[in-house]
Amino acid sequence: MTIQVFRTVRELRQWRRSLPFDDSLGFVPTMGALHDGHISLVSKCLEENDHTVVSIFVNPSQFAPNEDLNSYPRTFPQDLERLQEIMVNGHGVDAIFAPTVPEMYPSGITLQVEEQKGAFVSVLGLSEQLEGKTRPNFFRGVATVVTKLFNAVGCDKAYFGQKDIQQTVVLKRMVRDLLMPVEIVVLPIVREDSGLAMSSRNTYLSAGLRSKSSDIYLALNKGKEQYDKGGDRDSILKAVLDTLTDDSFQVDYVSLADPVELQEVVGSVDKTTGAILSIAVYVKEDGRTTRLIDNVILQ
Ligand code: AMP
Repeated sequence: MTIQVFRTVRELRQWRRSLPFDDSLGFVPTMGALHDGHISLVSKCLEENDHTVVSIFVNPSQFAPNEDLNSYPRTFPQDLERLQEIMVNGHGVDAIFAPTVPEMYPSGITLQVEEQKGAFVSVLGLSEQLEGKTRPNFFRGVATVVTKLFNAVGCDKAYFGQKDIQQTVVLKRMVRDLLMPVEIVVLPIVREDSGLAMSSRNTYLSAGLRSKSSDIYLALNKGKEQYDKGGDRDSILKAVLDTLTDDSFQVDYVSLADPVELQEVVGSVDKTTGAILSIAVYVKEDGRTTRLIDNVILQ
């Protein structure tokens, strides 16, 4: 199966305009280094749409100056091969959009936020907590690039993973508030056999630490057990933290939050709304630190 690879918005739009007017177009945005989590999104997109576009773009504006923009894994040839292999109901991915940074940021982009110029998108009230506390401009970067990508692709539906659950909450609010004609579809977390949530950043870990990091999911499940037994916020969070005692782990946050407004739950979870139990952990070995995130939905 040959996939077209577009590097410019112009080429992509030209192709988009050539599609039959009533055909549906699904879209899967990624930063590449594809794993089975990404592939699950692509498969669902193929199943639900006449045409599928996958983007591969490592977006500078969602990285802080001290983060891993330069070392983020870039594996385009392997990604292309994987995408060429997927077929669902006899059809595969139509196009990959893999633009350059100047194509996506015509006014230029610096990682120093105070020096940035031009148009950016912020989703207020949902971007400051959880991931946003440690990564203050992260969701501004995400909302901005996803807006640009939606404008370039012209999709009807876009597919995202529950793995980045705050991102899905932010983007659902963005399309609603900015009247974007795109449906956000959220799919479950794909995990390694050990239970560790798949992530392009798992490649930073040694085999030993990768296996040990499955404790993060174990910890979330201990929290979920407390919830299932009727436990309140304190007992749920305690169960999570008590499971992560290994010296390699430094917990950034554990949160029990409302699934729509993302404010922290006080006391007991309201069973009618449910809650998101989420965690970010720094895992350390030999002077290298990798930040991993994971979550489970309590309902
Ligand atoms: P990324 O390339 O990390 O920006 O991720 C692209 C998309 O894949 C996002 O919507 C992620 O939430 C999703 N994704 C990443 N890891 C997983 C996973 N383990 N399971 C399901 N979706 C995932």
